[in-house]
Amino acid sequence: MAGDLGEGFQDEPLAPVVSTRRVFTRFEGLRLRAGVVVRLHAAAARLPEGFALLVMDGWRTLDGQRAHHAALAGRTRRRQDVDRFVFDPDAQAPVVPGTDPPHRTGGAVDVVLVGPDDKPWPNSTVDPGPLSATMALEALGQRRPLTVVEEQARVGRSMLVGAMTSCGFTNYPAEWWHFDFGNAFWRHFGGHGPGPVYGIVESP
Ligand SMILES: [Zn+2]
Repeated sequence: MAGDLGEGFQDEPLAPVVSTRRVFTRFEGLRLRAGVVVRLHAAAARLPEGFALLVMDGWRTLDGQRAHHAALAGRTRRRQDVDRFVFDPDAQAPVVPGTDPPHRTGGAVDVVLVGPDDKPWPNSTVDPGPLSATMALEALGQRRPLTVVEEQARVGRSMLVGAMTSCGFTNYPAEWWHFDFGNAFWRHFGGHGPGPVYGIVESP
């Protein structure tokens, strides 16, 4: 399954992410490309028993993308910090030039880990900050010993990234919680060759 796109995959419709014992969603009606939903459930099944995935965000409408960008711009001073975390749908994509905002394609998903106590794993905030980079805790651990909670968070991130990438997703290195499949971000960060990718979906 990991690298198998299937014929005509770029025309796949959006599908709702249905909650199961191992996959929860932050809000009802959260949608992703059908093939991405399948991979998400496969990734959840690869977690150790008792762990689950909490899906924070998936496909975004144009208005939804604009609202996300405006909200972050309102509370972040540096423009480059805003653009690194949320694409401005009305401007050129700064991270991977020439690409669509990944969440507009239905191929991007923001996801955190839920622990055996049914609570989000420690340090699971998806608000952009100094420790958002996937390897930030490893880097911090080179400079000083990690606290117990930081070490727990580091292990959780690694578990999440391992489960998701083993099912074909790529991780966006600036955000430990953001994963892509089949879109231009996936092609760029996964080192995949040229070929069709998921484009923007305007309506479900
Ligand atoms: Zn994201």
